Amino acid sequence: MGSKNLKAIAVQGTHKVEVADTEGFAALARESSKILGDAMYHLRDSGTSLYVDVGIMFNDMPIKYFQETEFEADGLSAATMKGFLTGRTACYSCPIGCGRVVSLPEFGMDRVAGPEFQTIAAFGTGLMIPDLRKVSLMSYTCNQYGMDTISCGSTISFATHLCDLGKLDWGLEWNDPERVVELIHEIGNRTGVGDELGEGSMRLAQKHNVPELALHVKGMEIPNHDPRAFAGMAAVYAVASRGATHLEGDMYSVDMGVDVREVGIYSGDRLENEGKGETAARAQDFRAFFDSSIMCHFALVPPQTLIDLLNRATGASYSIEDILRIGARAVTMKRLFNLKCGLTGADDNLPKPLLHPLPDYATDDFAPDIELQLNDYYDYRGWDRATGVPSAKALKELGLEGLTSP
Ligand code: SF4
Repeated sequence: MGSKNLKAIAVQGTHKVEVADTEGFAALARESSKILGDAMYHLRDSGTSLYVDVGIMFNDMPIKYFQETEFEADGLSAATMKGFLTGRTACYSCPIGCGRVVSLPEFGMDRVAGPEFQTIAAFGTGLMIPDLRKVSLMSYTCNQYGMDTISCGSTISFATHLCDLGKLDWGLEWNDPERVVELIHEIGNRTGVGDELGEGSMRLAQKHNVPELALHVKGMEIPNHDPRAFAGMAAVYAVASRGATHLEGDMYSVDMGVDVREVGIYSGDRLENEGKGETAARAQDFRAFFDSSIMCHFALVPPQTLIDLLNRATGASYSIEDILRIGARAVTMKRLFNLKCGLTGADDNLPKPLLHPLPDYATDDFAPDIELQLNDYYDYRGWDRATGVPSAKALKELGLEGLTSP
């Protein structure tokens, strides 16, 4: 879409959506909604910024382009946001309502979307800026340009890191919020150094002959969960279809204790490589189904409830095995698409700086063993260890034998 300058596709229909069991569906939806709303009160109360304290505690929240382990983050917390919170928002019909509305008259911001955890990490701890009001301005400015805050914050962090190393002479410094806001405008307008930054970390690194230093997978910047704090994120980032994303498998959450035993997703030792590839694959399959059913990842209703809702809506009789298979088919079809576009197993990787432990023995000197995790992942899926290509047998088992690998 980007190469064709296509921003969005809007679809509109005229037919009514038929529900097989209207009353049964509505009753279960009401009941689930109530349980979900009660269970997730903390997310409604604090928004995703509640994870700032947790992320810092687990060394999961990247600091200074994933280089440091200590940062005073009180100024970025959910409690700090309450000082300028002026409302809350929810997606359609959601009983949780994690969205924040903030007002900062000093920046001309009146009841605008507040920053989410990922944005707070990208511009706050990532760039060593302990000021949530200024981070909110950065978030708002990115939103005005329609720019992703993770990629934008990470690319500016990378450029600052390169200035530190003497590889760039742009004079960028950590904790320089005014310059960061200027840079966001420069990126949005493709002026000054913003023209180069607007190409993202991978191309910036290629241009300055430091490809090994950029933290990205398949050209997309690493989001703000550190695979040295939650090992399974290594496999997730390496194999995710659109590059490093935390949205194709939430292993940070699984290994914090949010397992889904009904579908074989068990929490394990967060600093252990063994078995993480298979668990990451299961988490991916489950989340791929979740996405297809248009459920928010925060709305973690029990799988059987989700299936009951689906069956009452469609009149079908899906089982737990079926939903995992549906997820696996989606993941596999995306893999085949990528292979046809020229990606190979060699693109399933993690940048080298993340394959070394965090400093200060912060996570017991743990480092992801990406080869071990990938072999485990490929074996579970029946993909070739050397090439990452799905075997004919694996495709047949998913009913995808009509789709060929290259
Ligand atoms: S659907 Fe998800 S993102 Fe939207 S308000 Fe509810 S919990 Fe938040």
